[in-house]
Amino acid sequence: MTYRLFLRVFSSIVSIFVLSFPIDLSANDGVSVEQLFKLSEKYLRSAPEKTIEVLNQLQEKQSTFNKVQREHYYLLLANSLANRGLHQERIDLILSVIKKDLEPNTRAKFLYELSDAYVAQGEFERALMVMNENIVLIPKLTDLDAKGATLQSAISLLNSLRAFDESMTYAERMFALTNDDSNHVSKCMGLANKVEINFLRGNAVDAKNTLPSVIRTCNAIGMSSISLLVQTLASIDLIDSGKIMDGIGTGIPLLKEFDEINENSDYVIQLEEALARAYLKLLKLSSAEFYGTRSYQQAKEKNLVLQLEKTSRTMAAIKRAQGQFSSALEYYDISLALKDKILNDQLHKNLAYQRVKYDSQDKANQLSLLEQKNKTLAIARQLEKRNNQNLILLVTLISVILLILTAWLIRTWQQKNQFRQTAQIDGLTQISNRAHFITSGTHAMQSTHTAVSVILFDMDFFKRINDSFGHAVGDWVLRTVAEKIKALLGKKDLFGRLGGEEFVICIPGASEEETVALADRCRVAIMEIDTNPSGYRFPISASFGVATRAAHADTSFEDMLAAADKALYVSKTDGRNRVSTFQ
Ligand code: GH3
Ligand code: MG
Ligand code: MG
Repeated sequence: MTYRLFLRVFSSIVSIFVLSFPIDLSANDGVSVEQLFKLSEKYLRSAPEKTIEVLNQLQEKQSTFNKVQREHYYLLLANSLANRGLHQERIDLILSVIKKDLEPNTRAKFLYELSDAYVAQGEFERALMVMNENIVLIPKLTDLDAKGATLQSAISLLNSLRAFDESMTYAERMFALTNDDSNHVSKCMGLANKVEINFLRGNAVDAKNTLPSVIRTCNAIGMSSISLLVQTLASIDLIDSGKIMDGIGTGIPLLKEFDEINENSDYVIQLEEALARAYLKLLKLSSAEFYGTRSYQQAKEKNLVLQLEKTSRTMAAIKRAQGQFSSALEYYDISLALKDKILNDQLHKNLAYQRVKYDSQDKANQLSLLEQKNKTLAIARQLEKRNNQNLILLVTLISVILLILTAWLIRTWQQKNQFRQTAQIDGLTQISNRAHFITSGTHAMQSTHTAVSVILFDMDFFKRINDSFGHAVGDWVLRTVAEKIKALLGKKDLFGRLGGEEFVICIPGASEEETVALADRCRVAIMEIDTNPSGYRFPISASFGVATRAAHADTSFEDMLAAADKALYVSKTDGRNRVSTFQ
């Protein structure tokens, strides 16, 4: 199967990724340790058998390793175990290391090794589970190459299990790994994988359509070996589909190219096997035997079961055509025995894939259950939110009601005030009306500690003003008089309109003299009123009567008013516009 070959091509990237560690020169004896690391890496690639010795040297220095060096050492050891075919030891090693907390990039490296080891052991189920674990890790990987290597190992494993739909999704994902760097190796590898998967699942049309873009993309970044591989697949497809001459015509030059880059790829075995069949069809038996034998030997050497079965079958056909029936029979026997093994293997793989698939399906179901639970939680949360919103609404409503209530209270209070005012204040002059004045005057009189005086005054010949200039002018006079008198009074003094054109003042704590003086100031103020604003010129005057109750005396407010009224009467009769005192 071609996946092995593909993985090998990508394995240079994979191994760079798996074995690439920062060199720590700060460690005391770090230089020699790092040098040993470098050496073992070199040997792993070029002379695997020499690696053990270096690793043994490293093992002796294990106590001086820091965390990174320890992880590096384990990966090198795992690689070396793989080279020696000690896959179970490799698995045990990785499992003992991976238990500890690892950062994602390192964990991905160990998981890659583990998955690879399980494949080598034929434990596909476990390999798949590890692969799934590694795929989940991809978003956490910071290194693009690491992501690509993880995807490549998944694609290779899935292709071997003939799970092409799934491997195709990873190929697409590989292609889409980066948008920023269109020259990244993942673009070339993603496309190449797509071509291979399409060939593998018999979709040659799609595979061929993608071919030009693979060649263009891969060549552009110097990965012409990948172009070579997909072109090989195309040549094999031509032969398989009966276009023998085209297959040979494109295939032979490709073999030369493989030779030039000294690439001993598994793809060469496939191509040579296809070429052997092509020459057999053309009855060019010597050429057929040449390519057939080469591919058979290579497959045997590399112990590639699938290729060995295929090449032995081709060899049997060639031998039969050559009339060498016993040799043909031998090849047939090999082919049959392998076929049995392959079928078993395939069955094993299919079962493994189905089981893991079922498992992940089960996990998916659990996930969707969890999701459902989350949705329920979200709904609950939403309900709670709605309840909160209702609460907010309620609070708002209460606030609005309170606001309306407050506004209503203020309005009521204002109205009440207004009513109180209308009940207490005279509408025309805006001073106390009769009732209110008597109430507050009586109240002021209750304290007998000090003297209290009352000034009563009545406008002179007011009827004449009304008669001569109209009622409105009369009203103007009343308003103006109230205004002028108010200006002459103190804060504690009470001022009211008793009715008509009659006013009254109550002055707590004032002696008779002071009151008379004030009354006279009031009289003068009235006389001095300029009537021009009313539209007419006329004289105004008023007559005053003063009554005073000495401190500690026991006179009622009514008596005081009556006394002042008497004094006022005196002023009227004495010729008006004057102040009289009650005697
Ligand atoms: P005397 O000097 O003797 O007080 O003469 P008089 O004209 O002021 O006295 P009288 O009591 O005969 O007249 C008062 C007049 O005041 C009668 C009434 O029409 C007028 N009067 C009473 N209340 C009002 C009012 O609110 N507005 C106006 N314009 N006139 C009023
Ligand atoms: Mg009067
Ligand atoms: Mg009057």
